[in-house]
Amino acid sequence: MLPITCATGPVSPRHLVGFDPRRRPGLETEVLIIGGGVAGLSAALAAAEAGREVLVLCKGALDLSNTAWAQGGVAAVLGADERSADDEVALHVRDTLTAGVGLCHEPAVRTIIGAAEGAMDFLRSAGCRFDGGADGVPHLTREGGHSARRILHAHGDATGAEIARALAKTVRAHARITIIEQAFAIDLVEHNGRLGGATYGHRDEVYAVRAGATILATGGCGAAWRETTNPPLATGDGLAMAYRAGAELADLEFMQFHPTTLYVAGAGRLLVTEAMRGEGALLKNSEGERFMPRYHPDAELAPRDVVTRAIVAEIRRTGFPHVWLDATHLGATFLKERFPTIHLACSRFGIDIATAWMPVHPSAHYHCGGVASDPRGRTSLPGLWVAGEVGCTGLHGANRLASNSLLEGVVVGLAAGADAAAEGAMPGPLRAEHRAPVVENLDVADMVGSLRSLMWRSVGIERSARELALARRSIAFWMGHQANGFLRTPAGWELQNLLLVGALIAQAAEHRAASVGTHTRSDSSGPVAAEHHALRREGSS
Ligand SMILES: Cc1cc2nc3c(=O)[nH]c(=O)nc-3n(C[C@H](O)[C@H](O)[C@H](O)COP(=O)(O)OP(=O)(O)OC[C@H]3O[C@@H](n4cnc5c(N)ncnc54)[C@H](O)[C@@H]3O)c2cc1C
Repeated sequence: MLPITCATGPVSPRHLVGFDPRRRPGLETEVLIIGGGVAGLSAALAAAEAGREVLVLCKGALDLSNTAWAQGGVAAVLGADERSADDEVALHVRDTLTAGVGLCHEPAVRTIIGAAEGAMDFLRSAGCRFDGGADGVPHLTREGGHSARRILHAHGDATGAEIARALAKTVRAHARITIIEQAFAIDLVEHNGRLGGATYGHRDEVYAVRAGATILATGGCGAAWRETTNPPLATGDGLAMAYRAGAELADLEFMQFHPTTLYVAGAGRLLVTEAMRGEGALLKNSEGERFMPRYHPDAELAPRDVVTRAIVAEIRRTGFPHVWLDATHLGATFLKERFPTIHLACSRFGIDIATAWMPVHPSAHYHCGGVASDPRGRTSLPGLWVAGEVGCTGLHGANRLASNSLLEGVVVGLAAGADAAAEGAMPGPLRAEHRAPVVENLDVADMVGSLRSLMWRSVGIERSARELALARRSIAFWMGHQANGFLRTPAGWELQNLLLVGALIAQAAEHRAASVGTHTRSDSSGPVAAEHHALRREGSS
């Protein structure tokens, strides 16, 4: 586990809903997996292959996840006959540590990066087809912070969709895996001091599932910010659930803001993958100047936090609301084949990327912090594992290296699935849980909108003690409206989770007074402390 200093986080109720197992017996499974992205499905296959009955809950359809939206690729140093001649595992480790600015947990980095080749073998055996030549050798691209070409990709810039498709097909065909879609996990439940499953909402009813082992793979919390690359489902439910259950959460202040999302009204915040800069696209300011060489020797391929801050500085300096990404010199045929998703999306808004520059701006993208775990996903709570973006193994430190997250999802997912299967003994019956008073007349959508604006303004790319304190006070006030209440719908539970996650991140960001990695304090004071900070709910041990 990460070496961390632990403090007490915001006040929250232990459960969002009441549940009485005598009235509604619910389900049983040996291994419960909450989440159907790359991490959850890798874990499901590992646990099922170890002989366990596995239940996967996901709150939407199985094909909706951050995983399915991933574009650029997955980083791995492959075997000698498939890797770049100038690459080796030690370089991938070094690049990861450099991007993480002294806050990675080095043993976790070595373990996870060292397992990358095996993880790619797993994905390929699950039916994932990466782009490559007729000889079957994958084509490798380069992204910011990587010292060699080592990014595998699929369908040009639709890598995540291919991984999600292949894993979902394999999982659906597995006899020992059951999937329940539209099942919203609400809280983790215990039995005799050990995690023993979860409550979940499905078709307007609340149920419980009793499980020998539970793996949280609920993804990130990017939807807490107004400007985000994430799909709306990324509401930090797993983080909030784990906190309410008393797990340690670490490095929460490190939210990565992706430098380049399309800045066109109506386009959402479509990510423009870093691989485009890897292939030679250039960032230019409103004056047409290529500015990145002024900020970093690696220019457009500097680590993400550096590029994001440079863009913010240029926007502030010029007073223009965005910068430009110029890919026109890469050629129409290449752009269409290599970046079909971006090519199509831009053309819908009248931008032909072969002839015109793209307006881009940073947005919230990836949460480096999460539920503290070791590289095999083991958390501070017996019976609970985490995998993927909801977890914090220490791989990313203060800033994630591009394309390391799909990799982490597979590696930690497989390990957590195998270990949970080894310990998946069934617990006894679940206890009834207290039912809180029902909250009526709450405009959930309005509160979510207010929170997302506040997070962007006060807990965004640049933070200060004043803004963070303001954010914490506002969120505490909003939580007071309904924190002890019972909301009946997934939208209501998402709001409660978003508020809690916002409060946790604001507290963690306030605590780290110096700028480091993705965490930029405009009022930075004192030296950068190379220590991890954790938060835990009061009363949990
Ligand atoms: C636009 C975009 C591009 C990206 N590009 C890349 C890239 O090129 N390379 C890379 O490495 N990373 C990339 N990332 C990051 C990467 O996609 C994610 O970090 C990774 O996919 C997370 O996987 P996961 O399995 O942890 O979670 P997800 O894929 O987000 O899956 C979460 C799952 O949990 C379920 N869930 C959530 N809450 C609940 C609940 N309460 N109850 C039940 N189920 C729940 C969801 O329904 C979903 O099935 C990108 C992210 C985005 C948004």
